[in-house]
Amino acid sequence: MNQSNKKNFEFIKNYGVNYFLQDSARNWFEISSNNKNEVKNHKTDKIQEIIEKIRSYNTPLKKSANNLVVYDGNLDAKIMFIGEAPGRDEDIRGLPFVGKAGQLLNKMLNAINLKREDVYITNVINWRPPENRTPTDDEILEFLPFLQKQIDVVNPDYIFLLGVIAAKAVLTTSLSISKLRNKWHIYHSLELNKKINTIASYHPAFLLRSPKYKKESWEDLKKLKKKIDDEK
Ligand code: URA
Repeated sequence: MNQSNKKNFEFIKNYGVNYFLQDSARNWFEISSNNKNEVKNHKTDKIQEIIEKIRSYNTPLKKSANNLVVYDGNLDAKIMFIGEAPGRDEDIRGLPFVGKAGQLLNKMLNAINLKREDVYITNVINWRPPENRTPTDDEILEFLPFLQKQIDVVNPDYIFLLGVIAAKAVLTTSLSISKLRNKWHIYHSLELNKKINTIASYHPAFLLRSPKYKKESWEDLKKLKKKIDDEK
């Protein structure tokens, strides 16, 4: 440091500015381990904000439901699983996919060496529809901004859509799963400026009713696993 820089440095320091003109270059953009925790807390706060927004959003679904159901799993997950809406068990426990369909989802995850804690699990609709009826298009549209915001916060590299309602919401299509499955689609997050690899497959509740489709579901899961492994 030359004399005049040194003088400036002392001057600035005397004014209480300690981080300017240091003796070594500082990389402001490097994420230190402390900052990683900050990002994590930041994500927790942001998801909490979304949860509060959903909670205060006025919808008739709220009246018949017991608990708000938003997510389970890992905010730092690279894979996001999206289902339709909470059922009876989820409504009681306030967590997605904890009933029979959830048990099958756990098995599907285990089959590709994943645990619930490795992924982020959510639904298109966050309150249980009465009698588990299929959400209407209006309800899907109403809840879509909350789902999109979750995607932006979690920032996954892959999305796995469970069933036709999730496919309708995220891929904006009314095509059936048999037409959509077994290929990669793109979900484009404008907020993240990111194209996210997305696959649509059968809903676990459908697989419980029609086990003959499990073979196709397994193929879709393997497709996801292969892509993750190839891109590692
Ligand atoms: N079916 C869904 O789509 N989501 C759940 O959370 C449970 C069952």
